[in-house]
Amino acid sequence: MTETFTSPAFTPPTRFAVPGRIAVSEQTAGAWQTATLTEIRRETPRAATFRFAVPGWAGHLPGQHLMLRLTAEDGYVAQRHYSLASAPDDHGHIELTLDHVDDGEVSGWFHTVARTGDRVEVRGPLSGFFAWPGDRPALLIGAGSGVVPLMSMVRHHRARGLAVPLRLLVSARAPEDLIYADEYGAETTPLFTRSAPEGVPVGRLAAAHVAPLLAEPPPGGWEAYVCGSNAFAEHASRLLVQAGQPVERIRIERFG
Ligand SMILES: Cc1cc2nc3c(=O)[nH]c(=O)nc-3n(C[C@H](O)[C@H](O)[C@H](O)COP(=O)(O)OP(=O)(O)OC[C@H]3O[C@@H](n4cnc5c(N)ncnc54)[C@H](O)[C@@H]3O)c2cc1C
Repeated sequence: MTETFTSPAFTPPTRFAVPGRIAVSEQTAGAWQTATLTEIRRETPRAATFRFAVPGWAGHLPGQHLMLRLTAEDGYVAQRHYSLASAPDDHGHIELTLDHVDDGEVSGWFHTVARTGDRVEVRGPLSGFFAWPGDRPALLIGAGSGVVPLMSMVRHHRARGLAVPLRLLVSARAPEDLIYADEYGAETTPLFTRSAPEGVPVGRLAAAHVAPLLAEPPPGGWEAYVCGSNAFAEHASRLLVQAGQPVERIRIERFG
């Protein structure tokens, strides 16, 4: 069955910027599932977390992502990848955290039109390469919304009370841009590139942040997970290699 909402014809990018609803097309058996938006939480001026009920969600590993699909009345479809922010144990629910990209079709719809009760479609989880099962020491490095899959790992680590070492270096422009600011603990070092709280230096990720962690690796060594823009991923992985991290133990997720 195809359910049509009262959304006017959908012409990007404004089609998501009108106070209408998106059509939810027929589920593809075993693949696309309906996700009902149950909560919207603001994280920063440009990022918000969207919580969905997905009763048939099969579970995921921290670090995995999904494909999200919006379908308009006229059949126009927009699909985007989003990392799962929530820990795997959040049965029947998943959370995504989206940056509001300027003129972004899908992120713009979520930030300006979506409200609780709306339904979208999701397919996943996808990609095992960036997944962290919680079985090995993890060195996580993210920038901006690149922290989203890494936060799933941090939440999993906490929820399960894992003893395996986990460290997070997270870079943001300013304290007000730091996603999940209230959730970080001793495992996290936040870095600020434009302005920082008093007493905290301003600067980008540097060898001085990475080298000490690699100078004294935990037994078995670190598995490094890097997530962010192309430029950030290149920069961070270069620093890791220079500090002695084996290339084959650096996993990179690029948001484009
Ligand atoms: C594996 C994977 C996981 C991802 N996880 C997340 C996530 O957890 N949270 C999240 O916010 N995004 C995530 N993204 C990015 C996401 O898929 C979309 O690209 C993003 O939401 C923009 O889509 P849009 O429809 O709003 O913008 P579009 O309509 O596609 O683009 C609008 C304009 O913005 C530019 N643009 C597109 N994407 C970006 C970007 N990421 N940053 C800056 N400019 C951009 C385009 O060049 C274009 O000019 C992920 C991407 C991948 C590949």
